[in-house]
Amino acid sequence: MFDLTGRVAAVTGGNGGIGKGIALGLAEAGAAVAILARNESKNLAALAELRSINANAIALRLDVNQRTALQSALDEVAVKLGPVDILVNNAGIAIPGGGLRLAAEDWDRVLETNLNSCFFLSQIAARSMAARKSGKIINIASEYSRFGNPIAPSYAASKGGLIQLTKSMAIELAADNIQVNAIVPGWIESDMTAPIKSRPFYNEILMRTPAGRFGTPAECGGAAIFLASHASDFITGATIFVDGGYAIR
Ligand code: NDP
Repeated sequence: MFDLTGRVAAVTGGNGGIGKGIALGLAEAGAAVAILARNESKNLAALAELRSINANAIALRLDVNQRTALQSALDEVAVKLGPVDILVNNAGIAIPGGGLRLAAEDWDRVLETNLNSCFFLSQIAARSMAARKSGKIINIASEYSRFGNPIAPSYAASKGGLIQLTKSMAIELAADNIQVNAIVPGWIESDMTAPIKSRPFYNEILMRTPAGRFGTPAECGGAAIFLASHASDFITGATIFVDGGYAIR
């Protein structure tokens, strides 16, 4: 049920943090994996890790904010590995700045990376999936899709929008046997959360998280394997929390 042999996955931001955890998880389950991210040295390091577990993998340099580059990136994956069966929209950024001070270009950059690119990539991938009557789209959201965030309203708005996009595309694409679901990571160890470790907020997170710790990128990989596999074929428009219980306290 969980075997992904013969399937092709594309993971945006798959060169580090949660994206790399997901890329490694999908590869361990048998998928061929394409990493799509900007930083060439991180891409090469992640590719080496994937190949060390004998994965059939490639890494392509892609800035998901370059809308005109999205189609050609997925076309290149199709040529090198095959058409994308599993799309993971993971690339994301957070730019701190409350609503009164946030610059317009920072608002746009967060929305473009965290929401708009997910729609445009999903649209391209889903056209091909629909023709084959099979596909999985997995969007990486955030607890801030549900909670307000006064220091990064752009981030919260982008992730809230991503959950609504997940539900909307799930309904539209169900007839084509494409499942669209979201993962909400809690606090996960990554470059994005590393600076928090030196702040008092870190202990507040641990106190509030019933599991009493940060999660690992590999633990997000487990949820992604489930949502990418036949084990979840009757699950669509859902959100899976990988958060050690943070959201329920
Ligand atoms: P990291 O900062 O470690 O990773 C972010 C990834 O996104 C990098 O691989 C980066 O690649 C890629 N990326 C950013 N901008 C672009 C772009 N324009 N084009 C292509 N790739 C891009 O963060 P995390 O692993 O923590 O975050 C991954 C996702 O999980 C994000 O969507 C984040 O919002 C979400 N998340 C994380 C949580 C956490 O606790 N860590 C909690 C909840 C959600 P490159 O360096 O090559 O640009």
